[in-house]
Amino acid sequence: MKRTQNLGEVNEKLTGKEVKLVGWVDTIREHGNVMFLDLRDRYGKIQAVITKKSLDFAKAKELTIESCISLEGEVKLRPKGSENKELSSGKVEIKIDKLEIFSKAEPLPFEIGREDVSEDLRLKYRYLDLRRPKMLKNLELRYKIIKFIRDYLDEENFLEIQTPILTKSSPGGARDYVVPSRVHLGKFYALPQSPQQYKQLLMVAGVDKYFQIAPCFRDEDARADRCPGEFYQLDLEMSFVEQEDILELTEKMFLSMIKKILPDKKLTFQKIQRLTYEQAMKKYKTDKPDLRKNKDDPNELAFVWIVDFPLFEEEKTEGHYAPMHHMFTKPKDSDLKDLNEKDAHKVKSDQHDLVLNGFEVGGGSIRIHDPKIQEKVFDLIGFDKKQKKEFEHMLTAFKYGVPPHGGIAPGIDRLIMALLGEASIKETIAFPKNREAKDVTMDAPSEITKEQLDEVHLKLVEKKIKKK
Ligand code: ASP
Repeated sequence: MKRTQNLGEVNEKLTGKEVKLVGWVDTIREHGNVMFLDLRDRYGKIQAVITKKSLDFAKAKELTIESCISLEGEVKLRPKGSENKELSSGKVEIKIDKLEIFSKAEPLPFEIGREDVSEDLRLKYRYLDLRRPKMLKNLELRYKIIKFIRDYLDEENFLEIQTPILTKSSPGGARDYVVPSRVHLGKFYALPQSPQQYKQLLMVAGVDKYFQIAPCFRDEDARADRCPGEFYQLDLEMSFVEQEDILELTEKMFLSMIKKILPDKKLTFQKIQRLTYEQAMKKYKTDKPDLRKNKDDPNELAFVWIVDFPLFEEEKTEGHYAPMHHMFTKPKDSDLKDLNEKDAHKVKSDQHDLVLNGFEVGGGSIRIHDPKIQEKVFDLIGFDKKQKKEFEHMLTAFKYGVPPHGGIAPGIDRLIMALLGEASIKETIAFPKNREAKDVTMDAPSEITKEQLDEVHLKLVEKKIKKK
């Protein structure tokens, strides 16, 4: 290893010891024959001193902010009165004997951590922006949260199963990202908006309990709580369950995760509250109410379940309906009598949404497992023969012994954003797309060559550029 300790491990206990440390130059302060610098890594920060007597003093003079270096020297107690209480290493400093510059940093495009930098500039140099200790902390928390979820569900007998990324475009839902096929002229894959159909097919397969930290792709516009392009879901499905079982599992998992990973957070309600859609709309005029007692407290978390949603959002023209959640959501048994063109607006469903501090952080439902009901829902949505055919595999699968099943899919990025009280979802994602759905770091999307276009049988329509 090129280091003997990381910077979180250096403190007064090492006084008198020789150490070799690595990291980035956080600050430089020159006082004639003495130079102070702060070295920073993922774990912490430490002050180091070099004097003119050192052979490497000239090298130190060349240092620039954010250069990547290594230094060797003795851990010394700082003179009385010059301790820094904010650092775990604040009682000591390193007396530099040897300095090695791994890589010298050029003048930076922006000062790291400065607030008044345009978002695109920060995203272009995201690797610099990520050096902010807060961002590294967020990435670490994200990892810990996902690891907790994996361990928790593993204990509960769940299997994590990857489902295809190149899949099929199907009607309904948001706009797809499509991928042209080279082998099948004129045909396209779509990136999954969610693994909904696959997870239901896994239930037909007898998997019983499935989850996946699943990438989902939707061509939607940006919002503060939504990055365009892609996002991650904790996608989860279980067989032989009632809605209550799904709510209980999710609740227990999240509350124990918060207790373990975010112990400073305070829950407004020790047991997650429940509101019917009707109650929420009546009392709060929204199905995502923010039930915190004190909205200025960044550590307060108010979870609430919204249940008993209408099956359909609105009656469209010609007696057609749009699903409130999605077309696989089960109508309540007691309302099946109203599942017809005239009364469908009265039908309630087994949908459940999880809301945290005013953000919808997850949604799911018990699914339809009766092909006849599924077909009826397709009819009410207004699917024609061709559109129905796109879901034939589901109806076919349901002919071979489908278990009753249901699930939920909390959005990982949004959940973490709400948990951490971040104003922007980008603070929870390493390389987020910008508002215009661009990956500014890599400069994607980008043009492809004529050969690549030919291979997938595509020809671009020349866009007429208006000349002024
Ligand atoms: N697939 C659904 C969604 O992405 C979630 C679910 O019903 O489990 O919203």
